[in-house]
Amino acid sequence: MNNRVALVTGASQGIGRACALLLAQHGARVVAGARQVEKLEQLVVEIRAAGGHAAAVPLDVTSEESISTAFRQAEAVFGKVEILINNAGITRDGLVMRMKRENWDAVIQTNLTGAFLCIQQALPGMVRARWGRIVNISSVVGEMGNPGQANYVASKAGLIGLTKSIAQEVASRNITVNAVAPGFIQTAMTEALDEKARERLLPLIPLGRMGTDLDVAHAVRFLVSDEAAYITGHVLDVNGGLRM
Ligand code: NDP
Repeated sequence: MNNRVALVTGASQGIGRACALLLAQHGARVVAGARQVEKLEQLVVEIRAAGGHAAAVPLDVTSEESISTAFRQAEAVFGKVEILINNAGITRDGLVMRMKRENWDAVIQTNLTGAFLCIQQALPGMVRARWGRIVNISSVVGEMGNPGQANYVASKAGLIGLTKSIAQEVASRNITVNAVAPGFIQTAMTEALDEKARERLLPLIPLGRMGTDLDVAHAVRFLVSDEAAYITGHVLDVNGGLRM
């Protein structure tokens, strides 16, 4: 990663944490952002102990002010953000007929508007540097739909549209914008699934298992690498074959 500065949102746990660790292992200087700062500090200790470079910044992607402060802090420590991983995400599941407006808004604001605002912060520096990598963490359900998750699915499908539009806007500046669409990955987010749901789900996955956070992180690492320089506007499925 050539000492590139990589900001990962939602790096306190799960997929974001795995991305931060892997990018640091590959030589990126990682800025880990999330609301649970203690967890970020532990991650930074872990990265530094392994000889990597990392810093923690408090970040709430639902607040424009917090996003702008986090980017200024990142810049002060390592310089302009060159790689942005929009990973922060939440679910507030429920059937549409009963979905509360606040649960619709919270999910769209965190998963979609948060990513948009982070991209707006990152782009000027990338445009000036004539180099940049943006990866948005979408979801297999953003491609398929999922009953009970209309707000989440809308946000994840929105991220795919955002990815393809921005990829076209900034391609001439040597900035690539891609999405990763994970399937069912073992993290706190899917721990909420009950045993019955798991039993229903597993036979639908040709590879016969849930994914790991590292399975997703490897795809992210590839998309931000020099080897992926000619890939933009792509949605990379990491789903064990759940959707082909
Ligand atoms: P987790 O719930 O384990 O992690 C979510 C992360 O998002 C946390 O680090 C959390 O940090 C952060 N986050 C949530 N809200 C905010 C906020 N307002 N500001 C900043 N950070 C925030 O979930 P996963 O690791 O599983 O999910 C990571 C991403 O992957 C999400 O976008 C999710 O939608 C997506 N995904 C996950 C799948 C799965 O099966 N697990 C499948 C497909 C996609 P903190 O609370 O510290 O702020």
